[in-house]
Amino acid sequence: MSRAEVQLPVADAAAKIAERRADFPALHQEVNGCPLAYLDNAASAQQPLAVIDTIANYQRRDHANVHRGVHTLSQRATEAYEGSRDKLRDFIGAQSRSEIVLTSGTTESINLVAQSFVRPRAGAGDKILITYLEHHANIVPWQIVCEQTGAELTVAPIDDRGQVDLERLYAMMTEDVRMLAVGHVSNALGTINPVEDITAVARDRDIPVLIDGAQATPHMQVDVSDLGCDFYAFSGHKMFGPTGTGVLYGREALLEAMPPYQGGGDMILEVRFDKTTYNELPYKFEAGTPNIAGVVGLGAAVDYLGEVGMENIGAYEQELLAYMTRRLSEIDGIRLYGTAERKASVQSFLLDDIHPHDLGTIVDHKGVAVRSGHHCAMPVMQHFCIPGTLRASLAFYNNHADVDRLVEALLAAKALFA
Ligand code: PLP
Repeated sequence: MSRAEVQLPVADAAAKIAERRADFPALHQEVNGCPLAYLDNAASAQQPLAVIDTIANYQRRDHANVHRGVHTLSQRATEAYEGSRDKLRDFIGAQSRSEIVLTSGTTESINLVAQSFVRPRAGAGDKILITYLEHHANIVPWQIVCEQTGAELTVAPIDDRGQVDLERLYAMMTEDVRMLAVGHVSNALGTINPVEDITAVARDRDIPVLIDGAQATPHMQVDVSDLGCDFYAFSGHKMFGPTGTGVLYGREALLEAMPPYQGGGDMILEVRFDKTTYNELPYKFEAGTPNIAGVVGLGAAVDYLGEVGMENIGAYEQELLAYMTRRLSEIDGIRLYGTAERKASVQSFLLDDIHPHDLGTIVDHKGVAVRSGHHCAMPVMQHFCIPGTLRASLAFYNNHADVDRLVEALLAAKALFA
């Protein structure tokens, strides 16, 4: 469904998307006596009724363990769970369902690759290459592998607009690099990295590439076949699905050659004390009872995104981002962080010398939900020599009124500190 979406003319698409706000019950409430303006989507997005109802119906009627039962409920649960895998394969354009490993989220997906793919292949004298823009989930797993293997973590710099210095990155792609791990979209600054180009250069040099797509899948059509990456990681809860769900896409030949990440039920074909035979892909990487209801809900989120249309979402959010950037820029004393040429709908900023936590608390009193702090991207904050920022992150269900509410709340905070 998602890949066959129809693209509407821009004005029609914007009007249709505005109607979608009604699908999200959490948006229609008062917080601290004010209507909620939810602008913390980069941390976790709200879920539409289609997802909430799918999970509730599954729990009410179909729940049983997957893959193991011959009885009807187990078959229903398995069908729904595996159906989501097919939807996710389609959603990111993977060649085969064997390439879709269901995980608890981006963090687990990256740790899986670090331990199962890189750890056996890296040693002293080798390098793992990342960038300054990464979320901690795309830093710490590599630091752990470096400690385990003696490999070195190398980090490509960014400029003051929050863009990766591509010349430096390419110069750092030397033959001793065992993995390049790069974010598709920065959660702290919104920068969209040119991952197609980066991947092409890395592949030319035989460097495996993992893309952290946690902040990309809610905003744009992702096609791993076009990208040509080896691994792509993302989370369900950033794309209007449940927490505790996610995907690791991996090229089949690589996954085939990798040892299991965890041992337990479901990841085996036969267990004997002298030898255990592992299950086929992707089950080899899915030990234990999974988050079945969550995955079923994630499948509903994929269907829902397909109905809205990723192209329509991208176009709508770009317009809203431009509006938010303009409105924020008009506030005296504002400093914007993350002004890259290509950006997703995220804006970090500081106002006067008000601490971001104080600012976040004050705007919350006006019903405006934004994130304050380092956004799990401390090196980005270190680059700018600041402790943190306030971050407003938009989804397609946000509108101009939400942005206006943010600006009003900031002006009120400014007046308080004047
Ligand atoms: N990578 C990026 C860019 C993120 O924004 C996040 C979450 O904020 C993660 C990784 C980690 O995702 P999760 O906590 O869902 O595993």
